[in-house]
Amino acid sequence: MEPTGLDTFLRELPKAELHVHLEGTLDAAVLAELDPSVTAVEVNERYQPGSFDRFIEGFKWAVGHLRTPDDYALAARRYLEKLPAQGVRYVEMTLAAGVVVWRKQDFAAVYDAVARECRRAPVDAWLVLDAVRHFGEEHVESVARLAVERAGDRVVAFGIGGDERIAPAGRFASTFAFVREHGLPLVPHAGETAGADSVRACVEMGARRIGHGVRAVEDASLVAELARRGVALEVCITSNVATGAVPSLDAHPVRRLFDAGVPVVINTDDPALFRTSMMDEYKLAAERFGFTREELAAVAANGLRHALAPRARAVTES
Ligand SMILES: [Zn+2]
Repeated sequence: MEPTGLDTFLRELPKAELHVHLEGTLDAAVLAELDPSVTAVEVNERYQPGSFDRFIEGFKWAVGHLRTPDDYALAARRYLEKLPAQGVRYVEMTLAAGVVVWRKQDFAAVYDAVARECRRAPVDAWLVLDAVRHFGEEHVESVARLAVERAGDRVVAFGIGGDERIAPAGRFASTFAFVREHGLPLVPHAGETAGADSVRACVEMGARRIGHGVRAVEDASLVAELARRGVALEVCITSNVATGAVPSLDAHPVRRLFDAGVPVVINTDDPALFRTSMMDEYKLAAERFGFTREELAAVAANGLRHALAPRARAVTES
């Protein structure tokens, strides 16, 4: 298909991807490199949308193919090399450190392998380490320590993912305080499977950005507060539909949040699982939510403005 004017505009628009899980980037080609017995048909079956639980099953299956530090490095390399063609100049890639620890893998070796790929990537690439909230307080605290230890290296933030419904953010208040005291930004997932209160709790505990946060729209005073405080929401439209975080594409609140002055950033979350890309997500914003080119440029600028590595701030200011 011939590229449209919108394609060209979006490809040339400098973008930042702030919410992407390395483990969610394993497409059929990469999985076949990691394990030649994997077929495209199997990948298709495993990556079916439908619900959050279904998504977690697909994610776990994908992660099972990352057995060694070299596997992680290959996955990172294959993902990072796809970014320049989409006009992505900067990425904060989430490494599920909590899953590495839980699988009793050598975290230091996995981290070093992925950090090395970030250093030699064709884009400005940094890491967020995240813990699995439903593994409990001790687990989350142990991962926070790993993140803090690497804060001066490639790690720019600490996050928590997993199931908000069974592990509300308030449980992790002491860990959040520990991370804040060490000057490491907090970027928790919230307002995805749980409502506005989950987002509010994270904002009150000093979150710098919120992963998803779309259900903040259920509380007008919270939306106003996000806008006033300038807390960015890492919006992932396709993901939210696929996991059932929103009931339908038309019901997605990206337009309402943007119009209310909330700093919205557009991201992919798990591009392989959700069969999307940064280009696709921006196109969705344009074609289904009526974002003008000016508005798309404002969203892209939000990405660079809310990026956490010092060099990204230099990009924005230049
Ligand atoms: Zn996510």
